[in-house]
Amino acid sequence: MRLILLGPPGAGKGTQAVRLVERLGIPQLSTGDMLRAAVAAGTPVGLQAKAVMESGGLVSDAIVIGIVADRIEEPDAKKGFILDGFPRTVAQAEALDRMLADKGLELDAVLELVVDQDALVGRIIKRADDAKAAGQPVRKDDDPEVFKTRLAAYNRDTAVVAPYYEKTGKLKTIDGMQPIDAVTEAMKRAIGA
Ligand code: AMP
Repeated sequence: MRLILLGPPGAGKGTQAVRLVERLGIPQLSTGDMLRAAVAAGTPVGLQAKAVMESGGLVSDAIVIGIVADRIEEPDAKKGFILDGFPRTVAQAEALDRMLADKGLELDAVLELVVDQDALVGRIIKRADDAKAAGQPVRKDDDPEVFKTRLAAYNRDTAVVAPYYEKTGKLKTIDGMQPIDAVTEAMKRAIGA
C-alpha cells in the first residue's frame, strides 16, 4: 500500500505513521527525518538544508524530490510506503505523480489530519517538554517562534496539496483532534486496514 499523510506540523503525522508501520508492515518515509539525518551527517544536502530547516522554512523542491526519488528505490519500499511530510508543495505532488507513473504505480490513499491550528503551538510546547523530560534532544525548530514560521509555510505552500488530491478522489480527511487511539482507528478504517 502507498499512502501519504498530510496535515500541519504538530498534527500527529509522525505518531500515527509509526502505528501504521506496525499495522501495515511498510516503512515510514519521513522527509523531515531524512533531512535531519543529512544535516547530522554533514552531507552536501544537509549543508544546504540546515539553515532553512532551523528557520522553519521549506527546503527546495529539487532537494526533497531527489531524496524521495532515491528512497522509494530502496528494497524495503518496494511493497509500499507511508510518506510523512512529503509532498509539501504542489510541485512535489506533481513530481511524485510522475515518479510513480514511470514505475506503473499508484497511490492508494492520502490521509489528511485535520486539526485546530490554535491548538498546535500548545502541542509543540508539550512535545519539547516531553523530549526534555525523557532526556532526548529537543528539535530546534520546535521553538514556539520557529514553529509559527513552519505553520505559516504550511498555510502558504502545503494547504493546497489536499485539494490537489481531492480531485483524484484519493483524499480521506480524518479528525486529528480526537484522542491518539481514535485517530489511529479512524485512519485504519479509512484504508480498510
Ligand atoms: P518535519 O519533520 O516533517 O516537520 O520537517 C522538518 C523540516 O524539514 C521542515 O520544517 C522543512 O524545513 C524540512 N522539510 C521536511 N519535509 C519537507 C518537504 N517535503 N519539503 C520541504 N521541506 C521539508
